[in-house]
Amino acid sequence: MKKVGFAYDDIFLSHKMPQGHPESSQRLVRIIDTLKSKGIWKKLYHLKPRRALEEEITSVHSEQYFERMQTFTGYYDPDTYVSENSFEAALYAAGAVVDAVDRCKNGEIERAFCAVRPPGHHAERDRAMGFCIFNNVAIGARYAQKLGYHKVFIIDFDVHHGNGTQHTFEEDDTVFYFSTHQYPHYPGTGKDTERGKGKGEGYTYNIPMPHGSGDKDYFYAYRDILPRLIMDFRPDIILVSAGYDLHSKDPLSGINVTGEGMRSIIRGIFLRSSLRVIPSIPYIFTLEGGYNLQALGDSVFMTVTEMLED
Ligand SMILES: [Zn+2]
Repeated sequence: MKKVGFAYDDIFLSHKMPQGHPESSQRLVRIIDTLKSKGIWKKLYHLKPRRALEEEITSVHSEQYFERMQTFTGYYDPDTYVSENSFEAALYAAGAVVDAVDRCKNGEIERAFCAVRPPGHHAERDRAMGFCIFNNVAIGARYAQKLGYHKVFIIDFDVHHGNGTQHTFEEDDTVFYFSTHQYPHYPGTGKDTERGKGKGEGYTYNIPMPHGSGDKDYFYAYRDILPRLIMDFRPDIILVSAGYDLHSKDPLSGINVTGEGMRSIIRGIFLRSSLRVIPSIPYIFTLEGGYNLQALGDSVFMTVTEMLED
């Protein structure tokens, strides 16, 4: 069994949303309740996240943006609400990923799931967007490189394209960004012709999924295409933007992936049925979307179950 860390802190509940907003603290409450009720809770290494440092945040975001968010409250855009404690929660959300990288590096754990809010993959260098304040996965990738994980592979299965993550690394040939997402859909980016720029050309791989796509389309993406890309790139670490809003029950998507389809995606990410030509490397998942509470709880339980497998 793999040593799997689970990063969570009650501070994530203090990032408050207006009544009726889909990105509510109930999402994390449901995840924790589900894992506890299934008994898997005791098999996990429970990690207390730390606050990300300013220099870690500004490895991806601008100084001006970081400073602005220290005092900002209210609606940043029509989707993205910032409450009194949101800045602090956002520092811990990024810090959870950074801390998980540290713990993989020192051998304490081999894989981690970071159950965080606010999510991150829409956050751009200079702005919050789409419920996201800081780009947790991108900050984690830069930190991993600082620790010597030179080549980072990011997988993003959220139903929305991770525009912020793509833009952060699109000119970089040391960070590979792979995304499947509904298209056309929010935020509008993620065409298959977006493949990176300059020396980063070929290190961005988008698979847009039309409305109504389902398990077999995702099987193709995660069992036929993704393993080959990972094996060609030979990453030192894999980070996953784990957004569960591609589930057929999710209110924010028109994608019809079932519970079994979700499991197939996770198995593809762990290269289950592929020739294992790369050695075992750390995997760190960080929560992005997922707005049907039952589907979210069940999917995270399934993910963590698969993470424990060798
Ligand atoms: Zn999403």
